[in-house]
Amino acid sequence: MLPKRAQLSQLPTHWDLLVIGGGITGAGVALLASQLGIRVLLVEQKDYAWGTSSRSSKMVHGGLRYLSQGNLRLTRESLREREIYLKELPHLVKRVPYLFPISKGQFPGRGIMGIALWLYDKLAGVNERRWLNTAELNELWPSYTNPNALGAYCYSDALTDDSRLVMRVLQEASANGAELINYVRAEDIKLHNGTSQVTLVDAHTNDTHTVYAQQVINATGAWADSLSGTANKIRPLRGSHLVIPTNLLPANSCLTLLHPRDKRPVFIFPWQGSTLIGTTDHDHQDSLQIEAQASHNEIEYLLEVVKTVFPKNTVNTSDISSVQAGVRPVISSGKAKKPSQERREHLVWRGAGRINVSGGKLTTFRVIALDALKEAGFIDGPTHRRLYRQGHLFEHSITWPKGLGDPLAPAPSQNELLAWWQWCIRHEQVQHLDDLLLRRTHVGNHQQDGGHALLLEHAPWLQRELGWSKQRWQQELTRYQAIWQQFYQIQK
Ligand SMILES: Cc1cc2nc3c(=O)[nH]c(=O)nc-3n(C[C@H](O)[C@H](O)[C@H](O)COP(=O)(O)OP(=O)(O)OC[C@H]3O[C@@H](n4cnc5c(N)ncnc54)[C@H](O)[C@@H]3O)c2cc1C
Repeated sequence: MLPKRAQLSQLPTHWDLLVIGGGITGAGVALLASQLGIRVLLVEQKDYAWGTSSRSSKMVHGGLRYLSQGNLRLTRESLREREIYLKELPHLVKRVPYLFPISKGQFPGRGIMGIALWLYDKLAGVNERRWLNTAELNELWPSYTNPNALGAYCYSDALTDDSRLVMRVLQEASANGAELINYVRAEDIKLHNGTSQVTLVDAHTNDTHTVYAQQVINATGAWADSLSGTANKIRPLRGSHLVIPTNLLPANSCLTLLHPRDKRPVFIFPWQGSTLIGTTDHDHQDSLQIEAQASHNEIEYLLEVVKTVFPKNTVNTSDISSVQAGVRPVISSGKAKKPSQERREHLVWRGAGRINVSGGKLTTFRVIALDALKEAGFIDGPTHRRLYRQGHLFEHSITWPKGLGDPLAPAPSQNELLAWWQWCIRHEQVQHLDDLLLRRTHVGNHQQDGGHALLLEHAPWLQRELGWSKQRWQQELTRYQAIWQQFYQIQK
């Protein structure tokens, strides 16, 4: 639970640590710092998880792809972290069967995949993989059609609700005393008598407030270059997903397919009562000042997979509930590699009066946070190693309404949804309707009208809960519709 959003002008001016960015990386840094007794303030220019951390593939995973690229360290680290969250956050991170069909003459074939998955399991300390023959594959995916299929490897990884994972981490940080404030932008970091001086701007009022911190950690992901104080390092790569009603494309496990065009892996998987298909990997040329938007080509590319492996399935653009596009903060190799060939590790580097951290994965946020805190001088090498090995992260038991954040829960009933909304409004610094419908809950992702009808039906109740006048309600409704139509609605 978070306290009510503070007034920017009332925040203390002196801090041990200022964290800029309220995605999973910033949240992780704030949590670990708060556990170490560091006085930490975190600011987020929009809403918590507004950036990439609500637009991922929702996987807490080792990443078979990284293994195939020979990136053993990232795979091992990610698998280790996956096992930690499966134990520590069982309602939020769920083990899911993943299927990798193999057909005659395919590369990688059954032999290589068998060895890769043996290693994958070994690195995670589990024994989950098994071979399924075609009958067993068709039992799980009855309409999967491939006359050359030999069967499929079944292994396990995990799914989560990415924006709720960020909220859970922030709630833990807040319970330890971290101060968190959304809709506050950090600008202009300067060194002042050995401490960092940062101007903060309230996105609602444009009021400014100057704070001083012993250390500043710039955890702004794809936006990191704009505050790094160094040469640019980020190659923003956009990835998009389609959200499809589950009755049109039922999914009970995660199907991993190689795209017929370029052999990139594409996943089809169940998520909170819908089926998700993703993702793509393109250089993001648009301004980072506006939300990322899936292109027409990306939508076609993803639908092509469905048409190839489910030829009888008639899903087309008009069936899509919504699209979701995010920008990966990938550390550029500086070489003209294809987007998918860029490595996905994080990087920590110094700029004047700040430590920058970007890249990596949702799954490895704890490791990223430890590295950033070490570079900032809050922990030494032995403490870093001890905390890394310790694994344990969550001390406080925070009880959410049933089903909220469960990646595999079916779509909520109206009563459940209203209970979720009420809880989030009361405890999670909801400032706008998109916070409530696209990040605290996901009605806006799952419903073809973005949840508009529900908003109208419950308008008086929502107005009361949110404490908004009629005029404010109308403004917020208009704002939400504009955001949803431009960035989430499929352009037919
Ligand atoms: C399509 C896609 C699929 C992915 N799938 C997976 C997956 O399945 N599993 C996995 O482990 N990883 C996945 N990733 C990677 C993962 O999502 C990212 O690595 C992670 O979310 C990055 O988190 P972050 O906190 O660094 O960045 P963000 O979540 O983008 O957070 C940075 C925040 O900084 C804020 N900010 C920017 N400038 C300022 C400023 N001046 N002042 C204040 N705040 C500011 C932004 O608004 C933003 O909210 C995926 C990424 C993409 C794009």
